[in-house]
Amino acid sequence: MRTWYIEDAGGGCRAFSEVLVLVSEEPQEVYSVKLPLTWNEDIGMSEMACRLMIGLMKKAGVSKSDRVLVCSGNIFHTLHQWLEKEGYNWETAKMDGIAHHSAEEAFYKQLVEAGVPANFKLEDRDYRTFYRQVEKWVKSQPDPARYWKDREARMAPAKTRYRLRNTFARPRKCHKCKGKILPYSPMVEYRLRHKGKKTRHYFHPACSPMEPYKGKLDYATVKVDGQEVEGIILPCKEESPCPVCGRPIKAGERAFYGYLGDILVFGHLPCLLGRKGSLQY
Ligand SMILES: [Zn+2]
Ligand SMILES: [Zn+2]
Repeated sequence: MRTWYIEDAGGGCRAFSEVLVLVSEEPQEVYSVKLPLTWNEDIGMSEMACRLMIGLMKKAGVSKSDRVLVCSGNIFHTLHQWLEKEGYNWETAKMDGIAHHSAEEAFYKQLVEAGVPANFKLEDRDYRTFYRQVEKWVKSQPDPARYWKDREARMAPAKTRYRLRNTFARPRKCHKCKGKILPYSPMVEYRLRHKGKKTRHYFHPACSPMEPYKGKLDYATVKVDGQEVEGIILPCKEESPCPVCGRPIKAGERAFYGYLGDILVFGHLPCLLGRKGSLQY
């Protein structure tokens, strides 16, 4: 029975690829693979790492009776599940020894090959200082974009890609019901990659297939002509007069936007809340 160690390095650095290693100490064998900086498939970092590690395990001939010790980091979350499902003899462990060193070495080698000064070194496991130094170097390069990790590609698929936004002045088409999402109203935005291109889909909040992961809006209810209008509070995009008090709503100033039927009701929130009489929109 052999013992295999699975470790990663470079995940905390915003630039350069994460390195994954599969190591046996007795007899000594080291396999390693790098994550791409970006990819187009709708899979997150952990799924990508799992797929690459399965490839390494095949290459190394890891058998189900071997002992597999895996770093507990998030990057291996999908791999943990896969090992469990497949019935491997595995557990998480704190990595040291050859696995840890070869992962760090492989990440470092990648940096030096790209031209990062060789005196930038990890000291006393102070990753923060080391990575910030590397990131600073990347920023000083003529084309820094070629070194950064694509953070969006690394996010778990689907779930984290829904955000609660608003349409501002631009109406959108709902991807589910194909209806119009009115200007100045809440919507859920879904960002995805399709055939290598980043695209967005928009949904009415009620049509969204998922609860939005991020984003929040402030809501308020005002009374217009005896009817309650629920709306959202947004920073005004372009200075325009408040229909209630006549004074300008300055760009960036927060204002109320809601709908009474198909009429857009807007204005300073305090004006709308304290208003008497009827309104002309
Ligand atoms: Zn809809
Ligand atoms: Zn006003």
